[in-house]
Amino acid sequence: MTTSASVPTEPEGAISGGGTVTDRLVDANERYAAAFSDPGMDARPVLQVAVVACMDARLDLHDALGLELGDCHTIRNAGGVVTDDVIRSLTISQRALGTRSVVLIHHTGCGLESLTEDFRHDLEMEVGQRPAWAVEAFRDVEQDVRQSMQRVRTSPFLLHTDDVRGFVFDVKTGLLREIDPT
Ligand SMILES: [Zn+2]
Repeated sequence: MTTSASVPTEPEGAISGGGTVTDRLVDANERYAAAFSDPGMDARPVLQVAVVACMDARLDLHDALGLELGDCHTIRNAGGVVTDDVIRSLTISQRALGTRSVVLIHHTGCGLESLTEDFRHDLEMEVGQRPAWAVEAFRDVEQDVRQSMQRVRTSPFLLHTDDVRGFVFDVKTGLLREIDPT
């Protein structure tokens, strides 16, 4: 077996302290469950809101928005972009589980800003198959929030498109900045 400076010496998935990262999560869950008591909620979000956000690890949605367990649906992906699958989740959220408001959150320093659609081409060259999905890369985070709001507002599947607001979360200050939809 060869090693290089760029290859970690630990086994794949390992973290310091022993065990894999998943082992650590499972251990944490056992502590969580030990202190957990059934809050007796049903599946409908208390605040009737769905939040669509980037998967970025620096964005703690519940803390950043003062959300409690059971308050909202959170739908996350790379970029927080409004894909067909996000529309699928929002449609179920509104039609089956009673949400009425949609909050879209992008953030500063998003990885999607440094990618282009060349990513798909490069993937195809590497693996011999072009992904069916778009990368949804963007240059201007504000414009991407605007077009995301537009995608939600114009979806024929959604029941409630009057309360759709978009924001950019600043990962340095923790503050949300609202984006004017026009
Ligand atoms: Zn991001």
